[in-house]
Amino acid sequence: MTFAPATRAAGLARLDEFAPLAGRRYAADRNHDRGPHEQPAVSQLSPYLRHRLVTEEEVVRHVLATHSLQAADKFVQEVYWRTYWKGWLEQRPSVFTRYEHGALAARESLGEEGEALLAAAVEGRAGIEGFDDWARELVDTGYLHNHARMWFASIWIFTLRLPWQLGAEFFLRHLLDGDPASNTLSWRWVAGLQTRGKTYLATADNIARYTEGRFRPRGLATVAPALEEDEPVPTPAPLAPAAAAPLGRLGLLLHDDDLAPETLPGVERIAAVAAPARGRERTAQGTAAMVADFQRDALADGLDRASSIHAAPAESLDDLTAPAIAAWAARHELDAIVMPLAPVGAARTALDRAAAELAPEGLPLVPLHREWDARAWPHATRGFFPFRERIPQLLRAQGIGAHGS
Ligand SMILES: Cc1cc2nc3c(=O)[nH]c(=O)nc-3n(C[C@H](O)[C@H](O)[C@H](O)COP(=O)(O)OP(=O)(O)OC[C@H]3O[C@@H](n4cnc5c(N)ncnc54)[C@H](O)[C@@H]3O)c2cc1C
Repeated sequence: MTFAPATRAAGLARLDEFAPLAGRRYAADRNHDRGPHEQPAVSQLSPYLRHRLVTEEEVVRHVLATHSLQAADKFVQEVYWRTYWKGWLEQRPSVFTRYEHGALAARESLGEEGEALLAAAVEGRAGIEGFDDWARELVDTGYLHNHARMWFASIWIFTLRLPWQLGAEFFLRHLLDGDPASNTLSWRWVAGLQTRGKTYLATADNIARYTEGRFRPRGLATVAPALEEDEPVPTPAPLAPAAAAPLGRLGLLLHDDDLAPETLPGVERIAAVAAPARGRERTAQGTAAMVADFQRDALADGLDRASSIHAAPAESLDDLTAPAIAAWAARHELDAIVMPLAPVGAARTALDRAAAELAPEGLPLVPLHREWDARAWPHATRGFFPFRERIPQLLRAQGIGAHGS
């Protein structure tokens, strides 16, 4: 499997190829992980969706132009899992910061034995069939099947008893689709922190069945007692309302959470476009080279397309800092800057800081909300199941019907 090149064209080509399979075949086969050298039953669109080289709306619209919602129900639900996790974290950003602090603290308190176990786990030397193969597969390819992610996280937490935050960090550092919401909250879910008390236990039988006999690990934990945390999950905070589009000469600033300027609302009259030359570090331990390359190429592709759509000069910025953004704005005499809304994560932290520093200088940074998120996120207050009930209604509001409408 390969995820090169990191372009919108490659993401759209993958979507075209996969769409005919997104119906009942996906529903029946999606849990099987036949290994990295076999044709998967899943879309492998996640690196493109993560960076919004292709948007969730485009994926669902395309699939429902071929299948009825009933046939593609399972696939559409999986795409909405992503939207749900994003909306859930957006209303509780401290859950991500708490994970980041937890990872630092866990690393410090590992001790010699813990450090040796951690090294063995991430280098594929833990001595557990399957688990070791998935660790190597993740590092080599930047991707793991969903079921392998669940088994891996469960074995990490309940068999090896390593801190879940360090497993989440390992994933975030190496996954091309590494996402603050989907990753952190899925690890929390396996650990029994997300749906309180409900954990995921990986068993040898389940692994043997869904890897089609490739692995049957021995010595796995037979119980998965839920982890506990000191602080309760915060109550959802209100989502920021959409701001009115600013007036004057506008610059469009892209970042690696949203690289589909062709579908971004409210971006007429763009005088200049910019994006950072590199993605921001994903973890305190850095970012795997393969991920950094993907981010860099995706940013360059987004910037290129934005420049042709708006017939505007493009610039790569050194970083998403106030001085870099202010210097670019000054060169193009910009009155304000618009950007796709960055959800909780590294780009958002940098942009919030830059916006706070640039506001007193009279240079507003205005996030543009996509309707897909604005409609769905407010419903991500409780579990996924009540959220799921709203999918048909959300699709109708988005003007997406089954079979070509
Ligand atoms: C421990 C753990 C960590 C994970 N970390 C991430 C992560 O960092 N980034 C990430 O995008 N997904 C993550 N997932 C969710 C899921 O495993 C991947 O999205 C999926 O495997 C991507 O492969 P695909 O594109 O072939 O998915 P498909 O099955 O083809 O699904 C289509 C799209 O729907 C979304 N999706 C599917 N399943 C899920 C799910 N369970 N949760 C959220 N979105 C989903 C993805 O955007 C995916 O591309 C994690 C799951 C677990 C159990």
